[in-house]
Amino acid sequence: MMAQYLALKQQAGDCLLFYRMGDFFELFFDDAKIAAQVLDIALTSRGEHGGAPIPMCGVPVHSAEGYLARLIRAGCRVAIAEQVETPEEAKKRGGSKALVARDIVRFVTAGTLTEEALLEPRRANVLAAVCEVRGVIGLAACDISTGRMELEECAPDQMGAALARLGASEVVAPDSWDQAPVDCVPRPNRSFASDEGETRLKAVHGVSTLDGFGQFSRAMLAAAGGLVTYLDHVGRGALPLLLPPVAREAGTHMAMDEATRSSLEILVSSGGTRRGSLVETIDRCVTGAGARQLAEDLSAPLTDARAINRRLELVSWLHDDPLLRGDIRGILRALPDLGRALGRVVAGRGSPRDLGQLRDGLSEARRLHDLLAARTDRPEPLDAVLPSLAGHGALCDLYSRALVPAPPTERSQGAYIAEGYDASLDELRRVSGNARRAIAALEAKYRDDTGISALKIRHNGVLGYFIEVPAKHADRLMAPESGFTHRQTMAGAVRFNALALHEEASRIAESGGHALAAEEAHFEELVAHAVRAKEAIASTAAALARIDVAAGQAERAAEGGWALPRVVDEPCLEITGGRHPVVEAALGVRGERFVANDCALNSQDRLWLVGGPNMGGKSTFLRQNALIVLLAQAGGFVPAQGATIGLVDRLFSRVGAADNLARGRSTFMVEMVETAAILSQATERSFVILDEVGRGTSTYDGLSLAWAVAEAIHSINRCRCLFATHYHELSRLAETCDSLSLHHVRAREWKGDLVLLHELAEGPADKSYGLAVARLAGVPAPVIKRAKSVLEKLEKGRAATGGLAAGLDDLPLFAAAIEAAEEKVDALRERLNGLDIDALSPREALDLLYQLKAQANG
Ligand code: ADP
Repeated sequence: MMAQYLALKQQAGDCLLFYRMGDFFELFFDDAKIAAQVLDIALTSRGEHGGAPIPMCGVPVHSAEGYLARLIRAGCRVAIAEQVETPEEAKKRGGSKALVARDIVRFVTAGTLTEEALLEPRRANVLAAVCEVRGVIGLAACDISTGRMELEECAPDQMGAALARLGASEVVAPDSWDQAPVDCVPRPNRSFASDEGETRLKAVHGVSTLDGFGQFSRAMLAAAGGLVTYLDHVGRGALPLLLPPVAREAGTHMAMDEATRSSLEILVSSGGTRRGSLVETIDRCVTGAGARQLAEDLSAPLTDARAINRRLELVSWLHDDPLLRGDIRGILRALPDLGRALGRVVAGRGSPRDLGQLRDGLSEARRLHDLLAARTDRPEPLDAVLPSLAGHGALCDLYSRALVPAPPTERSQGAYIAEGYDASLDELRRVSGNARRAIAALEAKYRDDTGISALKIRHNGVLGYFIEVPAKHADRLMAPESGFTHRQTMAGAVRFNALALHEEASRIAESGGHALAAEEAHFEELVAHAVRAKEAIASTAAALARIDVAAGQAERAAEGGWALPRVVDEPCLEITGGRHPVVEAALGVRGERFVANDCALNSQDRLWLVGGPNMGGKSTFLRQNALIVLLAQAGGFVPAQGATIGLVDRLFSRVGAADNLARGRSTFMVEMVETAAILSQATERSFVILDEVGRGTSTYDGLSLAWAVAEAIHSINRCRCLFATHYHELSRLAETCDSLSLHHVRAREWKGDLVLLHELAEGPADKSYGLAVARLAGVPAPVIKRAKSVLEKLEKGRAATGGLAAGLDDLPLFAAAIEAAEEKVDALRERLNGLDIDALSPREALDLLYQLKAQANG
């Protein structure tokens, strides 16, 4: 057995091997140690291998799903080795000692789950493949639970952002690629080839050219090759549902890198869960598919005003008509998860219940279609999705006739095909029903015949039907002429058979077996119908999700008194009465009120420096504006009284010295790497929020960096920016930067206590209130007192020397300083260009090198 195990383990590679033995999946060696620890189950041992006992643990097959879910969540991948023949077949093949043949039937990995129990209903489960083809990154992503597949390409420095947007639960990449993302699953290089990808996609969709689906670059196809080959590998040749690939065009979505996403806590909060995230606060979808679509919208806000306005038009219509909204949400709420049911059915793992869900989902979609189509005031964008909601009449009709109202999840017991659908099946059922009744009648007859009122006819899996009498009456039936044959003697009872019973039982078994086979055949045929209509069903599911998102957004807007944003092309950002949805909700729970604030950026005033005390509301203000932009471009209402939003191409959010030790870099290093990315990538159409940049280093370093970064954003990137800082000295930037203005969050000291007003006002912050905040936080009075006397000393010193920023008066302007730096480099270049190297003696060359070096340093 160990030889068989080890051979399978070799195939399983670095996946844990679930080795089927009877009613258990067993794990051995290191696999057992890992699983025992993750699952908190007992680690035992068995036999010996190489002189040492073999560690072992196991999980029961019937509850394996729950254990699998935990292993997957802990980052493991699992190979399932099943018995592929029965013990009888094994004996026939190789004698009584023959080992049952086993094979890996499937790999279970985070990105390739389809089991309802292992998937979160409100979260897409994305598998991504990424590779590089001649300096271009290709990405292929799919959610195999619904079959959606998307291909895209990007520059190497955008790979991190693209992967962050996809939020894949598993990423595969070529094994020899040194730039592969961390934690990816390495796969053979050769599967990431564009011709491989093209051939595979054509085969999956049965087409001779991919042109009908869109234009795909070599990088995209290479990634698709890696993805489909991996799916083929994990499914052992059985591919899941894959819809035709869609090419994602570059520039159609607002770019956000990973740091921005995590700092804005869009889909997960800083705690690592959905709780406290933006999506949790705004999600009012009533279906899982809607919630998944909303998460995708928030991950990839649009940059095209027309597309945004189309979404907004629908939300606005539903916002203004609460009754209609209620009706729509009522229909949607009862819907099954159409897309995922389809995914299971097409992947060959569907149950009768899944078919029932398709039937119910599609017929409800029709009902929604009729409700919406009857509305003459419907907005134009709705017409694009309406046709997808109808058109499954024949399939619904077939499924309604074929299936019982509530089909079971198990196929093995039958009873899911409705009566009246197939006359021969009805006949088989009638025969077996008659036989069952006949058996009930036999019981009464045998009681009469024998005079034993305790006689019973019973059934179990081993004996089938049998007659049972208490042991004290058994003798009567044991008599040779009784017509009964003895089968089994139990502790208090004896079991018998009889000819008539045997006949009826065989009738039940035979007709039951035929009925099961007939149901099975119908099931296959019903599945085939769904497979043929898979694209149309998927588009119905997508249309339902889109409507759910719009209705949910409208609901949320109505609940919070949100406003319809106006999206324009100029680089402005005018928000009146803006609020932070998550902070507002958190305050609401505590019965506190959120103070709304305005923001007004435009090309003449595009950088706001925001000062004021800690805890004064600076971060909240910065983020609320970024979130309002994001929500608007995702096509929803915004938490404000009014908002005019100039389209943003890239959104950046940075928080000074975020704790990121997990990534193995110092916090300050992270801060600077992230800041560097903004300075190199932000355009005039971007929106940047910078929170306390420079905080992670010494005062002088920090102030200088914050100063230079603010200047560069103002004069070079020229993007819209909110810049929170506690360095007073930065306010002097207003003297030299025309499009920069000063603002602060207000605070007041009242009877010695600090009152934070969370209200934004114009002008620089008057003082820093650091000690007052410390007192508010409960720092003991003697410490505060001591700090006060240190502060007084320092301030005296500052008055004498002119303070931290003394000496900056003669600092040349930022632009001029850059020119000067460039000039020096150019002088060097000129001299190098003028050289005739062949005319130099070795001695002269050496001298010249010394001179050039001195010039470069000088
Ligand atoms: P800062 O960045 O200035 O240190 P924060 O933005 O982190 O301050 O805000 C600190 C706390 O103040 C928040 O957690 C919130 O409870 C409260 N707060 C912030 N802004 C507001 C507001 N506009 N209205 C009411 N409370 C607010």
